[in-house]
Amino acid sequence: MSDVRIDDLPVRDELRGKSPYGAPQLDVPVRLNTNENPYPLPEPLVERIAERVREAARNLNRYPDRDAVELRTKLAEYLTDTSGHEVGLANVWAANGSNEVIQQLLQTFGGPGRSAIGFEPSYSMHGLIARGTGTGWISGPRNEDFTIDVPAAEKAIAEHRPDVVFVTTPNNPTGNAVPPETVLALYEAAQAAKPSMVVVDEAYIEFSHGDSLLPLLDGRPNLVISRTMSKAFGAAGLRLGYLAAHPAVVDAVQLVRLPYHLSAVTQATALAALEHTGTLLGYVEQLKAERDRLVRELRATGYDVVESDANFVQFGRFEDAHTAWQKILDRGVLVRDNGIPGWLRVSAGTPEENDAFLDAVRELKKEQS
Ligand code: PMP
Repeated sequence: MSDVRIDDLPVRDELRGKSPYGAPQLDVPVRLNTNENPYPLPEPLVERIAERVREAARNLNRYPDRDAVELRTKLAEYLTDTSGHEVGLANVWAANGSNEVIQQLLQTFGGPGRSAIGFEPSYSMHGLIARGTGTGWISGPRNEDFTIDVPAAEKAIAEHRPDVVFVTTPNNPTGNAVPPETVLALYEAAQAAKPSMVVVDEAYIEFSHGDSLLPLLDGRPNLVISRTMSKAFGAAGLRLGYLAAHPAVVDAVQLVRLPYHLSAVTQATALAALEHTGTLLGYVEQLKAERDRLVRELRATGYDVVESDANFVQFGRFEDAHTAWQKILDRGVLVRDNGIPGWLRVSAGTPEENDAFLDAVRELKKEQS
């Protein structure tokens, strides 16, 4: 019945008046709003997925491998090969997207009576998943230029003594990477205050000019690195996220994971994608070059741009970002308005999509001057 709304139901107090997360899914020619990889999977990989899924289909009468051993082994190899830091099966856990990884971490280390902190603006799902798991949320500070204000962050950690500290590097939506010294400083502050878990969200790390923080895992059992196949692997539709951490962390999240959470079809598809890592990382190089071109061209057009280590760029400043968003949309290009006053975010697309975007923002600049 349409006269009954969410708030008329006996929903939990902390969900009252809230909106679900989600960017508009509009049908426009150029969609650069959700940090997806614009390249469809290459045909040989599509074939390999079909083959692997066909094999898996023969056993769908059985539950899947609950511990996803083959997949976690291959993910560990990928991490070792790309970082030079030895990662094994026991260090890796996988779930349906890194959102689920984060949810499992908060179910394990957060929860009622506990709290988590993030340095905002950052990935808003950290706070939303915290709320969904009954974990208190603390919004930590950033500098004007969107870097983390380390002394203020250390102070916030000492004061609030959160159970989970989120650091997103490269950060979404601003695109800047967090230096390892900052992560180390926050880790030390978090251990001195509680001790608590530090979750480094590296969803976009493959696009970074710098290296993964995986080597920092050595000797730091309360550090977790979270990753995804949604961005660099161009497989947002697959829903596969994973983490690397001390084996005890992997044991701990198994206390909250639903049995057989990762379907046999998902595992088969992810394994096929991992066989094609070389080709997929080739697209990453193209996207990095396009990202750098977006930064250059936006600056040449007179926009402010935050230095980007991701597959997207935050640009501004607009007197009214939402009006600018609409004007870019009127020219057939969908970008993201994250509600950060004065700023918009654009994901790197194909060269043609980026050209269309650059034409639109050049026109907008002319109109405004
Ligand atoms: N972390 C960050 C920083 C993100 O931007 C995203 C996707 N927008 C995710 C995690 C979640 O990605 P997924 O669940 O697709 O792995």
